[in-house]
Amino acid sequence: MGGVNAVAAWLGDCAREFARRADELDELDRLLGDADHGTNMRRGTEAAGAIDLSETRTAAEALRKVGMALVSTVGGASGPLFGTFFLRTGAAWPSQVTTAGVARAMRAGLDAVVIRGRAREGDKTMVDALAPAVRALESAAAAGQDLSEALPAAAAAAERGRDATRDMVARRGRAALKADTSVGVIDPGAVSVAIIVTTAATHVR
Ligand code: ADP
Ligand code: MG
Ligand code: MG
Repeated sequence: MGGVNAVAAWLGDCAREFARRADELDELDRLLGDADHGTNMRRGTEAAGAIDLSETRTAAEALRKVGMALVSTVGGASGPLFGTFFLRTGAAWPSQVTTAGVARAMRAGLDAVVIRGRAREGDKTMVDALAPAVRALESAAAAGQDLSEALPAAAAAAERGRDATRDMVARRGRAALKADTSVGVIDPGAVSVAIIVTTAATHVR
């Protein structure tokens, strides 16, 4: 994720992965909400993947453009939340890409998502995958690991967080309306976070 080219390659992979898994995410959202999360994320990542980055000089700027594309195309609850994450992460993106710098940028993105959506960990949302991923990056930075170690660790943490949403009761968003029957179903937004971080991990350096 060092430069614009890495962001572009990662975006292409994200768009492909969300296209491949849109039905799976719609089905999870059918059980918890209104059955559109996969469709929303597929549309958003398709738009983000189609951004012309030829005039874009920094990864920070590219990530901000991704955020704007997501805000304007995903819609629903998740569009502003995922969009805000990329807008704020991009705004805080370091000019020298280090584990500590990326951890700080993603912490800023997470904080913005929490301010906007007011979800706490344990509420069965995307935050339950994102927060552990950010903590894994912070631990990796403290341990002096470079991004080629740190991002896979963050991806593994996001996947564990995603899986942990299965046993949680939904307390935010539409899923809260189905709180009683939400236990046993993984939160689709948490799955999306895991897809995004796992895909990013394949583009380090
Ligand atoms: P909508 O609920 O408007 O149809 P989506 O289906 O695209 O939007 O997105 C639903 C996902 O958004 C959920 O799975 C959850 O992870 C996330 N989400 C919803 N509300 C919140 C919130 N307040 N804070 C954090 N994440 C949220
Ligand atoms: Mg939905
Ligand atoms: Mg919807």
